[in-house]
Amino acid sequence: MARPAHICVMPGDGIGPEVTSQAIRVLEIVGKIAGVGLEFHTETVGGCCIDETGTALTPSGLRHAKRSAAVLFGAVGGPKWDDPTASVRPEDGLLALRKGLGLFANLRPVQVFGPLAAASPLKGDISSVDFIVVRELTGGLYFGKPKRVWDTPSGRRAVDTCAYSEVEIERVLRTGFTLARQRRSKLASVDKANVLATGRLWRQVATRLAREHADVQVEHVLVDTCAMRLVTRPQDFDVIVTENTFGDILTDEAAVIGGSMGMMPSASLGAGRLGLYEPIHGSAPDIAGKGIANPLAAILSAALLLRYSLGLEAAARTVEHAVDTVIDRGLRTADIAGGSKFVGTVEMADAVISVIKDLGVEGGP
Ligand code: NAD
Repeated sequence: MARPAHICVMPGDGIGPEVTSQAIRVLEIVGKIAGVGLEFHTETVGGCCIDETGTALTPSGLRHAKRSAAVLFGAVGGPKWDDPTASVRPEDGLLALRKGLGLFANLRPVQVFGPLAAASPLKGDISSVDFIVVRELTGGLYFGKPKRVWDTPSGRRAVDTCAYSEVEIERVLRTGFTLARQRRSKLASVDKANVLATGRLWRQVATRLAREHADVQVEHVLVDTCAMRLVTRPQDFDVIVTENTFGDILTDEAAVIGGSMGMMPSASLGAGRLGLYEPIHGSAPDIAGKGIANPLAAILSAALLLRYSLGLEAAARTVEHAVDTVIDRGLRTADIAGGSKFVGTVEMADAVISVIKDLGVEGGP
């Protein structure tokens, strides 16, 4: 057997440890069936890390993450650390990880699980919705300088700066083009080229890359039009690529289409194979410790880890298929509508594992 792949696990706060531990169980069983060695090493991050060490991510945590094949992340934050004046905040740990690992593309797949379609705020047949939003993660308005609030004789003023280099735009668009080629070969490049200089540069780069990828059908969409089309014709999208702030807003809009936050995974990728995988939901302090959190977003994030960091497409599909199957069979945690059998966190993962054992993994022993 090849050398085992090291997975750095960062469960974090609130329900993070509850859902992450179930994703590990799923990875363990898939690894066993597929004959792939996986080793897990846990590091502290977020609020619990602040309590232990005074910082939201330790240097050894980052070092370990860098040496791993992938990072499986839970969630960080909670009321205990919710002081806006605090010098260190739990999310600093996640930001430091993204920066330290060079992760510049955040991928959020949006699919509608058939039986959950009724819980979507959208009307009509949305069963064919299947797209990925790729959000640029390290530039734009969130990181541009200057960024400050100051006093002036006529009152306080504030400034944020939206800045992008051509290199930053090109690398995230290339991630989008690669994904489009693995999917339905459609890419929507989303910008605000009619108003913003960064938007014009974005469009120029996207136009140049489109010529290199003649097999991909490219359209340029203004961000306001994209927001509208996400709720009127989400079926039309395949891969959407956009800058940081637009992506933050559009991904939350897209997240509700599927009907439940507890079902939405994400992957953050850089230039190599190392990626960070996490559910899009937060630490859900209101339900932490009750054993009722939905583990499926964490489990689906583990499927993305298998696909993008370990290159195990068949194993990833098996996990996704198992999740589909348990939803089809009517199993529901309290956050998802409908269904015939309400289960807790561990029972839901048990059900997924049992389907995986029945299915086996293509190519596995
Ligand atoms: P949240 O996603 O934690 O919770 C929103 C609602 O959804 C809550 O009612 C919660 O119970 C429910 N929910 C979320 N995930 C669920 C799951 N897996 N199963 C069942 N129900 C689920 O968002 P919030 O309440 O705005 O934030 C709580 C904390 O999480 C805050 O400190 C916030 O800063 C943090 N947060 C962290 C991340 C992250 O780590 N990436 C992301 C978002 C929010």
